Amino acid sequence: MIKPGLLADAVLNFIYPPIHCIWCERRLEKRAVHGICSHCIDAMPFIHPPRCSVCGKPAETEMLICTECRLHGHDYNQALAVFEYSITIRELIHRYKYNGEYTLSRTFGYFMSELLMQSGWRVDAIIPVPLHKNRLKSRGFNQSALLADYLSHRSGIPCLENLLIRRVDTKTQTGFNRYRRADNLKGAFSIVKPHDLEDKDILLVDDVHTSGATADSCSRVLHQAGVNKVYVLTLAAVLSESELHDI
Ligand SMILES: [Zn+2]
Ligand SMILES: [Zn+2]
Repeated sequence: MIKPGLLADAVLNFIYPPIHCIWCERRLEKRAVHGICSHCIDAMPFIHPPRCSVCGKPAETEMLICTECRLHGHDYNQALAVFEYSITIRELIHRYKYNGEYTLSRTFGYFMSELLMQSGWRVDAIIPVPLHKNRLKSRGFNQSALLADYLSHRSGIPCLENLLIRRVDTKTQTGFNRYRRADNLKGAFSIVKPHDLEDKDILLVDDVHTSGATADSCSRVLHQAGVNKVYVLTLAAVLSESELHDI
């Protein structure tokens, strides 16, 4: 199986040039390099500022820390997501993860890299949220690793894929509230070579930011390994606590 994220984007665009819009399937205008036509792009649920300065979800002012972050706190330093986890985005992610449409990683990665550039974050390395080896075997690829590869190619920031590992094959989090999610992930992640991470600022990459339990769990072990700051970039964020039950 070709792993698209491991190939240069230019090569991929040559082999599989985006011809049709990933959502409405209209023929693309030449300038729609990200794979979404001008009709659909306006309807995509981008998260716009002002955002919470911790979790990156919409807030009343840019400097405000949202109620959830004030109540629960996070182990990561700052997070941003491109899209609200709407029905459209949910369907696209489902096609990407379960229907083998790996090339969607280019569209997703494109918008994530644009947001990374706007963020002003200075990071030394990119690390994808890992899958447990059993899950990797059954799915065939790590959806976060492909996004991390794309970001690495586009930004020139190295991607460290095998430093953070998921050593516990955790139960699916679907239907869990934030407390059960945190509990389910206790001890799930570990670092293989901690000395490689000392004093580094790390960009953690995942597809969806739900309660933040996964990013927090990864961030704890990264900080224990001497990482300075952990920034979290995801394609989508769940904005309402009640939606956690569906994911
Ligand atoms: Zn379209
Ligand atoms: Zn927040």
